[in-house]
Amino acid sequence: MSFPKKINHSQAVTLILQQVENKKVTNEFLSLDCSLGRVLAGPVTAPVDVPAFECSRMDGYAINLNILQSRQQASGYVLSLGDAIHATAQSQTVLCKNKAIPIMTGGMLPADANAIVLKEQAIIENNELSFTELPKEGEYIRTAGSDLQKNQAVVESFQRLNSAHLGLLASLGLSKVKVLKQPHVVLMMTGDELVKPGMSCLPGQIYDANTTMLSALLTDMGCKVTVLDTLLDTKEAVSKRMASIKKMKCDVVISVGGVSMGDKDWIPLVLQEQGEVLFHKVQIKPGFPMLFGRLKNALFYGLPGNPVSAYSTLCQYVFPVIQKLKKQCSKKITWHATLCHDLPKTHSRCEFFRGYYERISDMAEGNQIQVTICGGQQSSRIESLADANCFVVLDEAQYDLKAGSRVNIQPFMQFGS
Ligand code: AMP
Ligand code: MG
Repeated sequence: MSFPKKINHSQAVTLILQQVENKKVTNEFLSLDCSLGRVLAGPVTAPVDVPAFECSRMDGYAINLNILQSRQQASGYVLSLGDAIHATAQSQTVLCKNKAIPIMTGGMLPADANAIVLKEQAIIENNELSFTELPKEGEYIRTAGSDLQKNQAVVESFQRLNSAHLGLLASLGLSKVKVLKQPHVVLMMTGDELVKPGMSCLPGQIYDANTTMLSALLTDMGCKVTVLDTLLDTKEAVSKRMASIKKMKCDVVISVGGVSMGDKDWIPLVLQEQGEVLFHKVQIKPGFPMLFGRLKNALFYGLPGNPVSAYSTLCQYVFPVIQKLKKQCSKKITWHATLCHDLPKTHSRCEFFRGYYERISDMAEGNQIQVTICGGQQSSRIESLADANCFVVLDEAQYDLKAGSRVNIQPFMQFGS
């Protein structure tokens, strides 16, 4: 069968995004406690006024300004005190009339009160309030609906909910929200040599770093991740697994390892047999052998097994799809930065170096971002990722760069939820 091979980076992104263009996303109702980082499925309007009743913004004394003229004495104003109002359930029957009513923050205002004398400005003696400065009418009073009015739009569709949004929804009395279902990603490793961390590792075996790293990265991106058992490198095992995945409900399947030229790299062949290969190999570094296609209704990614290749290709090619499924912008955040040192590159592939950027404040040049490449860039070296906070992206046409050159960087923080 024929499918594109060795395409370039932007062609790969385009082909991948075409596959999710009209994909429908389903919704679910969730309690607010479980909705942090989730995406709102529709707009929320306020079901009630906030505050629901007129109340005091401060601790002080509720008064009716209209009766004060007759109360003016040489030393200021004097009013006798009524019973205090606290912030608690109440049906308001108290009136100020010619008294000052002690009122605490959030306390329901007497119907005839129109000003608050702050506690700080009050002198209390013999159960009487005296003060010298007349408070302004309405000051320190929260009228009903002055924060939010019933039916007012408060949070827009497709907003990612942070702690403040959740607080806002809770303040409206809402306990549940309608959110988009998380993209469901099935993740599986391939490789006879892989051993679970915590087990003993025989000569020739290695610890599986990718399951832990990639499921954490996908979770951080806001996915529901199902990790399947690691596959042995036999055609039979791969075929059986793909057949069983076809019965699962998921949006994305990611296999890791076994997509290159090795004798036991069965994933591309079996995907051709059981699904569809849309391209194989991309002109990038790291991650050249990446495979992409479909397995029944799911998108299928065959990522290369070296951990840095797997991490980079997941960020470059899975992340935009996850963003689309979450109705978020699929374009990566890219900044300009200045290289702190020379950077050799002799090939014509697009390369994703791991770098560390810092913001520098320069009197002459203003604010700038400087970036340094982190250690060894071989695709097996996870420590280069762990030390980094961005990809430094050199496109096909960029070769050997000198210190001071301007480069594009993609900050890692965007890949977190
Ligand atoms: P592959 O893509 O299967 O040819 O694997 C390329 C290299 O990455 C090999 O040295 C593998 O042992 C290594 N590798 C594959 N999968 C993992 C994994 N889950 N964790 C750590 N290294 C891996
Ligand atoms: Mg392998």
